Amino acid sequence: MHARSSALLLASLVGLFVGGSAVAAPLATITVEAGQYARTDTPVSVPLASVPQAMAGQALSLQEVRGASRVAVPAQVEQGATPRLHWILSGTLAAGQKRVYELVAGDARVDRQVKAVKGDKTLEISIGDAKVMQYHHAISPAPKGVAKVPDAKLPLYDHSAFIHPLWSPKGNVLTDINPPDHLHHMGIWMPWTHTTYEGKMVDFWNVGDGTGTVRFSKYLSTTSGSVYGGWQSEQDHVALKTSKGEQTILKEVWDVRVYNVGGPQKYWLVDFQSTQRCVAEQPLVQDEYRYGGLGYRATRQWKGPEADYLTSEGKTRKDGHGTRARWCDCYGEIDGQWEGVTFLDNPKNFRFPEPMRLWPEPTNYLFFNFCPSQLGAWEMKPGEDHVFRYRWYVHEGKPDVAEIERIWNDYANPPQVTVEAVRPEQAIVLFDGKDFSQWQPERKGGEIGWKIADGVMQVVPKTGSIMTKRDFSDFILHAEFKTPDMPANVKGQGRGNSGIYIQRRYELQILDSYGLVPKNNDGGSIYTFKAPDTNACKKPGEWQSYDILFRAARWAQKDGQPAKIQNARITVFQNGVLIHDNVEVTRKTGAGQQEGPKPAPILLQEHGNEVSFRNLWIVPLEG
Ligand code: MG
Repeated sequence: MHARSSALLLASLVGLFVGGSAVAAPLATITVEAGQYARTDTPVSVPLASVPQAMAGQALSLQEVRGASRVAVPAQVEQGATPRLHWILSGTLAAGQKRVYELVAGDARVDRQVKAVKGDKTLEISIGDAKVMQYHHAISPAPKGVAKVPDAKLPLYDHSAFIHPLWSPKGNVLTDINPPDHLHHMGIWMPWTHTTYEGKMVDFWNVGDGTGTVRFSKYLSTTSGSVYGGWQSEQDHVALKTSKGEQTILKEVWDVRVYNVGGPQKYWLVDFQSTQRCVAEQPLVQDEYRYGGLGYRATRQWKGPEADYLTSEGKTRKDGHGTRARWCDCYGEIDGQWEGVTFLDNPKNFRFPEPMRLWPEPTNYLFFNFCPSQLGAWEMKPGEDHVFRYRWYVHEGKPDVAEIERIWNDYANPPQVTVEAVRPEQAIVLFDGKDFSQWQPERKGGEIGWKIADGVMQVVPKTGSIMTKRDFSDFILHAEFKTPDMPANVKGQGRGNSGIYIQRRYELQILDSYGLVPKNNDGGSIYTFKAPDTNACKKPGEWQSYDILFRAARWAQKDGQPAKIQNARITVFQNGVLIHDNVEVTRKTGAGQQEGPKPAPILLQEHGNEVSFRNLWIVPLEG
């Protein structure tokens, strides 16, 4: 064999084999676009709603496409109603650049793990050999003799549901609990201070007052993995003296994720989310007050001139209190080493950018609090979810503004991820360019009036809508469509209108809405029910796709009649971009059929415009 042809053969073998095994056919292609910001070691994730193998719970792995070769990438699938794939966009990706991956069957590559290990009293998160933090599920009793609190009151200070220690990458403890000056301070924790319930003040923060406290209730999950490790815990915010005695007012769920980035000598990245719901009969009123919410009590080794704050607006200990910021860094020095924690506020948060409580005294320790209640009273109504999202960046050195801004941009403007699913073997082909064998006219007794040419089916105006001969319940549907280029004087709902009626009940709108701020009747909307999260519409005349995950409403018999017990849920990708994420649809839309327990066809709408379709397939899912 000539050297040249051996080299070619070798090249093709490298292309065909990864880690000694044959490359599996991709189940989906996933593209990450950096957008306007350069990216470095950015955590990314995407729901796998359009990938039938993921919905069926198969093992999945991820590989990066590098020319003809494929490089396995550590990835982690978060199970749930819709599985979600997580991985790190490792290394650097310049602004405007993209990276392409393939999702394939098989176990994902596992690297250094972020571990969550539950002990008797705490859950500990570590990366490799380095400890990151402990969460306390057991009651931590208040220490005696450290503060001017009578022994009789000490049990009020018994506390759970907080983080301590938070270690730095160098191994220093960055949190403090039960400091003598504020015995109720507990590392990182999230109680409210001045609230009113049944007309009486309840303070969940100053536990020594005996009106309120926060307690760990249970774990919902713990996760170890090569992308992130963490936990979800439920916590009760308890009012101690209501008209019914002790009563849980808020049920809170913490979701804490520590990412496998940075490494032992560099930094930690932590996503923290608190979802709070009032479970009492009356609303909980949040009174205007200067603190309450996500709190951080820093190590007592950070004090006076060896400790300070820096906010995104350039404020410090001198002038920071009561100001608002996208982020705030708390930093200090231990044995000549400067380290810090940046708390990044999420743009989706209530009253973003949130006001902050910072301690202004130049001789003091560091305490930090994002506090929406500084801007006035607000209410938590029974049954409503309030979600608070933060990212924490634990770093070495004094705050590096450029680096914090980079991390802020990753958090606030994540890279765009698109997913293109490959048609799986088990799919039912609804249209592959040939015929209407899977279809029937909606009008009874009529014929299908649409035309097929060059592998494309096209609406013929005034001939009526068409629908599948089969009925469907839960499924994944892939559909490609194209709206006609309409004259400029044709406006709104007349611009290339069609739609996919799921079960003939819920319309996913097809319309030329290119470049618009989308309303709830535009292209990509669940018609008159919800606008798409982003406008992913292409120009008229260009082929587009919808990938739809549908979970039908659930019904039970009640007094001899079917009664809806769960609403339908819809996830949609338009052109690979997620535009509806597990949306609960509470009613039929527009001209849709009434909701009911029976499976029903997929209908393609004729709305007077020459909209085209191609490559339609569906995978029914088991309920
Ligand atoms: Mg329509």
